[in-house]
Amino acid sequence: MLSVVHRPVVVRAPSKVNLHLSVGDLRDDGYHELTTVFQALSLADTVAVVPAAELRVEVRGEDAAQVPSDHTNLVWQAAEMLAEASGRPPHVAITIDKGIPVAGGMAGGSADAAATLVALDELWSLGLTRLELDRYAARLGSDVPFCLHGGTALGTGRGEKLLPVLARNTFHWVLALAKDGLSTPAVFRELDRLRAAGDPPRVDDPQALMQALAVGDAAALAPLLGNDLQAAALSLQPGLRRTLRAGVAAGALAGIVSGSGPTCAFLCADRDTAVEVSAELAGAGVARTVRVADGPVHGARLDDDESQH
Ligand code: ATP
Repeated sequence: MLSVVHRPVVVRAPSKVNLHLSVGDLRDDGYHELTTVFQALSLADTVAVVPAAELRVEVRGEDAAQVPSDHTNLVWQAAEMLAEASGRPPHVAITIDKGIPVAGGMAGGSADAAATLVALDELWSLGLTRLELDRYAARLGSDVPFCLHGGTALGTGRGEKLLPVLARNTFHWVLALAKDGLSTPAVFRELDRLRAAGDPPRVDDPQALMQALAVGDAAALAPLLGNDLQAAALSLQPGLRRTLRAGVAAGALAGIVSGSGPTCAFLCADRDTAVEVSAELAGAGVARTVRVADGPVHGARLDDDESQH
């Protein structure tokens, strides 16, 4: 008997860096109101889906051992959600190739979830509208809608209410991946503790930063980068101060902790400088791995070279 071999549907899932992240005080419902400017970066995972006898998740790459392959993986939840909504069994094999550091503050899990929505929309020919995809994304997590859209965007609420931000030019980044991850809830708890005990710095509103983005001026953007979670991430991993100093000493325009950390993101004047800074940082031994990336890039979208149409 002939068996049908399906080529996988493959989606590229870009990471994000927060150029600006302002965290409001803890609300009664346990959440913090956020104002953030995200940028999608070329450092990415790929997510491939094929029909299978049952729902299965496989994770590949250096960090694979730290990622669950059961129902706690966001891609599993995305598949179950779309299967239920479209009245079919969630019978797909999902393979994630991790390029994004795990628990690194770069929205790896959210990127994979967004990519799974796009991949299954294609595999199952669902014909979902942008609005429908957005709604599923928001149910999966507050960073998932941005991972779907990509580009540069202003996020409010818990980060899920998005407005596109004009960003001229490509910005060049170096990412220093830390040896150990940081749990996002633990970093928020540490910020609450620091705020109860004192007065850690708070970033201004993002107006000036958005102007620098519109002009496309990396040198003007650099001093405006800011992250309220940085103090908390540094408090939990004090060694990150050395990493931040080393990147600037190597020639970056500025360095910040990305989101809840511990990845440090360095903005550079151009690609050549980014390559030099990455080589210096790799040699200085202040990071587990160093990567060069640029942004803004598109959100989760079909990888035309790899996918069947
Ligand atoms: P964020 O920047 O959105 O706060 P993060 O980049 O710091 O997230 P993730 O890499 O998304 O963190 O992972 C956080 C935790 O989520 C991991 O420790 C892992 O156990 C779990 N997880 C669930 N699904 C995934 C996935 N597809 N990829 C990575 N981690 C996942």
